[in-house]
Amino acid sequence: MTMPDWLASLHNQLGPAGLLTNPANVEPYAIDWRRLFPGKPLAVARPANTGEVSAIVKLCHAHGVAIVPQGGNTGMAGGAVPDASGGELVLSLSRMNTIRSIDPVGMTLEAEAGVILKTAQDAAAHVGRLLPISLAAEGSAMIGGIVSTNAGGLNVLRYGMTRALVLGLEVVLADGTVVNGLRHLRKDNAGYDWKQLFIGSEGTLGITTAAVLRLLPQPKDSVTALLSVPNPQAALDLLACLQNTLGDSITACELMAGFSLDLVEKHFSFSRPIADGEWFVLIEAASTLSGLREAAETALGDALEQGFALDGTVAESGRQATELWQWRERITESEAKEGKSVKHDVSVPIPQIPAFLVAADEALARLQPGTRVNCFGHLGDGNLHYNVLITDHHPDAVNAVVHDVVQRFGGSISAEHGIGQYRVAELARRRAPEEQALARRIKMALDPDDLMNPGKVLPRHLQDVS
Ligand SMILES: Cc1cc2nc3c(=O)[nH]c(=O)nc-3n(C[C@H](O)[C@H](O)[C@H](O)COP(=O)(O)OP(=O)(O)OC[C@H]3O[C@@H](n4cnc5c(N)ncnc54)[C@H](O)[C@@H]3O)c2cc1C
Repeated sequence: MTMPDWLASLHNQLGPAGLLTNPANVEPYAIDWRRLFPGKPLAVARPANTGEVSAIVKLCHAHGVAIVPQGGNTGMAGGAVPDASGGELVLSLSRMNTIRSIDPVGMTLEAEAGVILKTAQDAAAHVGRLLPISLAAEGSAMIGGIVSTNAGGLNVLRYGMTRALVLGLEVVLADGTVVNGLRHLRKDNAGYDWKQLFIGSEGTLGITTAAVLRLLPQPKDSVTALLSVPNPQAALDLLACLQNTLGDSITACELMAGFSLDLVEKHFSFSRPIADGEWFVLIEAASTLSGLREAAETALGDALEQGFALDGTVAESGRQATELWQWRERITESEAKEGKSVKHDVSVPIPQIPAFLVAADEALARLQPGTRVNCFGHLGDGNLHYNVLITDHHPDAVNAVVHDVVQRFGGSISAEHGIGQYRVAELARRRAPEEQALARRIKMALDPDDLMNPGKVLPRHLQDVS
């Protein structure tokens, strides 16, 4: 098939590494990590700098071609892949992978969108600083994707979501205009803080080309412990008890059902470091000051005495800590190896977690008795991945049952993974009309032709519904 003239001119401009059209080369960009949303890209543009991103967007704008930005393609909501029409251009940021600066005094890191999160973390660590965004996909997820999904992850309890760590952004708007807001400032109340609109917008308002991220002092000492707890309420009591003693040095508190560990054991042949149980908590504390280990061991002893925890093990070395974290980090992959699942990434007010779990289990049992649920998540953030292993029912029916319970508890149907294409209909069904109308007005103001990642976050063809 011959290339349209505008695409041929783009090919000349970007060169063979900058524009992929051959089906075999395009194929890896066409489907999401979960392999649930196969698409068909028109082509894949791989710009090397912000100027090239702008040129691509201007051309697409002139020719009415939709653009789907893609980072590491580890997103859980099918946001980074095109539809099946063959008419959408994937714009991969992967060649824009330069860390532009690291400032250990001002504690900032400026990176292009295609820098892999782990690379940025390592660069910060190299100068004694911490980039605290951490998630199991950090070896592939990129800064642009992290910012565009407002990623959460393992350290939100102490450091907040990505939004809390972004100081400045450079974006390319839907008409190709470059807006440079790469300020390295802690305080900046000069006018609208427009970058907040782009953080978490999943590529639907424009393309993030670079970001300035806030760094923190690198902790000198950390303690990691895996504990079994009798039930989710005890897990909350355990967290409160440890927070009373260790304060905000607790960086992560992860809840895992015994079934989640069963899956990891089965698919990765790990052997359990503590006795079997119904629920587990993985907890990590970190501090720049000395004395953390003694304080943590005393606090954990108290928690065991009070019955909040039944059994536990504390890592004695960095290697052991990594091994304990493997139990948490391998859950998603183990679930994928077990088979298909209907995923939920929900949040409820933290004290409601135990009651939510009872209500959701009961509602699912009414839909289909004996359903297997792989439940794990960020206890300290009220964020649970309540994943239902495949049932006889259509995923929409399972979603509806779980999300009804979430709504009843005043929760969110997407705590950290975003909406992508996976949850567009659910969000449209459940958000108040006023909030939806406001979202449409923002989209229409920034992308009136609906060319930036159409059909993600919001339904397509907004003109028809506004
Ligand atoms: C094993 C595993 C564990 C995970 N754990 C977590 C977790 O704990 N917490 C969490 O929040 N997420 C988690 N995720 C989800 C995922 O890693 C995050 O959403 C991550 O932020 C996506 O980054 P990415 O570069 O892969 O983005 P992609 O998947 O490529 O894109 C995600 C979205 O952002 C848009 N986008 C990407 N780059 C840009 C850009 N430069 N400009 C504009 N839009 C852009 C895409 O269009 C898409 O809508 C996990 C995923 C996996 C596979």
